[in-house]
Formats: sequence, structure tokens, C-alpha cells
Amino acid sequence: LRQGLDKTRRNIVNQLKAIVGQGPLNQVAVDEIEAALLQADVGVEATDYIIHSLQQKLKEKALPPDEAITYLKKILRDMLDKPLKESGSFSLERGNLNIWLITGVNGAGKTTTIGKLARLAQKSGYNCLIGAADTFRAAAVEQVKIWGERSGVEVVANPSKNVDPASVVFDAINAAKSRGIELLLVDTAGRLQNKKNLMDELSKVRRTISKKAPDAKVESLLVLDATLGQNGLRQAEVFSQAAKLSGVVLTKLDGTARGGVALAVVQQLSLPIRFIGAGEGIDDLRPFSSYEFVEALLG
Ligand code: GDP
Repeated sequence: LRQGLDKTRRNIVNQLKAIVGQGPLNQVAVDEIEAALLQADVGVEATDYIIHSLQQKLKEKALPPDEAITYLKKILRDMLDKPLKESGSFSLERGNLNIWLITGVNGAGKTTTIGKLARLAQKSGYNCLIGAADTFRAAAVEQVKIWGERSGVEVVANPSKNVDPASVVFDAINAAKSRGIELLLVDTAGRLQNKKNLMDELSKVRRTISKKAPDAKVESLLVLDATLGQNGLRQAEVFSQAAKLSGVVLTKLDGTARGGVALAVVQQLSLPIRFIGAGEGIDDLRPFSSYEFVEALLG
């Protein structure tokens, strides 16, 4: 992760270290920190929060460089942990059916993430199945099948044209129940052009789930491309209005200087980050840890 966040780290940290290295933190330095955070796509709202917290601390005492970095790390960890704490634990219930709806615009890394999640679940000993319910893009079903093969997880799909996503979910739940599946990953729509369609489609899928599998533990994850920075955040806002999201998977954190967007996600959307993707390979996904993230960023 540290390597993946290298560009973001160089972007923020070198500036921050130069700023706090000048001596005890003062208002001039705080202004410079503000500029550095905005540049790393931390976003206005999250930056304001961080700066306000720093200023509160400065009212108590001037901070020597080491303490300033330590305190800044704590602010960032607390911000990242806040929605994690509020949304409760995120885990797979063994022996029960867990259904994760995966959404996100084309190109964000949705298919890749589904393959990686399937692999992660398999490796941890969960029976997993994929439902190919992004039926709008013909290629989406084929791509998801390729990832299914890579991760050794079966894919439920319907080869006919213009299939209702909810009917794929219906079939997938039947298959999951008869095979004792613990995690059903559902590839859902990624079109933003028409918010109402997206909303209707996702609520129909949800209705199917509550009818067919009322006891299933359902999560709805948005796959978000970190390299889009603040633009990605606007997409995320539309999705969070259309779907009842329970978390975000932040992809492409390798090789972007915009890793700061993670802070904007939690601050502006109040959504926890659940996983992060840092590479194109099947094993390049890990559960999110605020400690690891902040250390990779400022450590
Ligand atoms: P989808 O259209 O949202 O399903 O996106 P895909 O899963 O097809 O991914 C789009 C592109 O992003 C592909 O070239 C992937 O290899 C790439 N990609 C996905 N996740 C990551 C990641 O974490 N890091 C990098 N570097 N590339 C990724």
C-alpha cells in the first residue's frame, strides 16, 4: 500500500514535512497545510475539518514538528474511522447468505473488484457465487465470467438479450440457496445518465432480495476510481442518492496522487471505505484499515 500511495505521499507529505519542519506550527504553516491538502484532492469540506481541528489544538499549545505530524495522523484516522464506527461491523456471516450489490460507473473497476472480492472470499474459505446482473452492457457479462474463471467462482448469468437484472438476481439467489453459498456478489448497473432508471433498477433488485432471501445480510458497495479525485466524488453523490449504499471500494490507488480523495469520501458522503484496490491483479485488493492508510500516507 505504501508503494501504491507513493505519489500521494510525495505530494502531501513532502510539503507537510517542509512546512512543519520550519518550527512550531503556527497560522502561516496551517495555511500552507490547507493548500497542500486541497492539492491532494482531500476536498474543501474535509480540508476545512482538518484545519479547524489543527487550529483548535494550536489554541492549546504550539506544536513541535513531530507532534504536529502525530496529531495530524490522529485527525485523519478519526475521520476515516467515524463512518466505520457508525455503520457497525462489516463482516461475512458464516453459514448465512450474504449478498453484496456492487455498483459503479463503467471503467471504475467494478468487474475487476468483483473478481478480487470473489478471490478474497474463496481464500478465506467462504463459498462464493457471482450474479451477472449488469445486463445492459453485453460485454459486462462476458468480462465478469472471465473474472469468475480466474477466481474459481461460478457465475450465474442469463444469455438472452434485454434481461431484467432482477430476474438474474432471482436465479442467482435460487442457485445460492441450493448450493449453500455464503457470499453472493451481484454485479449491478453502472449507468449514471439516468438517475431514475438506476434507482428503479436497484430498488427492484432489492425488492427481489427481500422477497427471496429476507434473512440475507445485504451490503451495497460503490466502486470508485480514486484517480478521478473530486470528479469521482460527484459521481458518488449521485449513486448515494440512487442506491442505499453501505460503503465504498476505492480503486486505482496505485499510481495516483489523489489518494486524499479517501478523506473526501468519508467526510462528504459519510460512507465508510471498505476495501481498497491498488493494482490490476486478482490479489490487489485489501480490506481498508485507517491505520494502514494513514501510515502509508504520512508515515
Ligand atoms: P468496469 O468497467 O467498472 O467493470 O471496470 P474494469 O473492472 O473493467 O476496470 C477498468 C480498468 O481499470 C481495467 O483496465 C482494470 O485493469 C483497471 N483497474 C481496476 N482496478 C484497478 C486498480 O486497483 N489499479 C489499477 N492500476 N487498475 C485497475
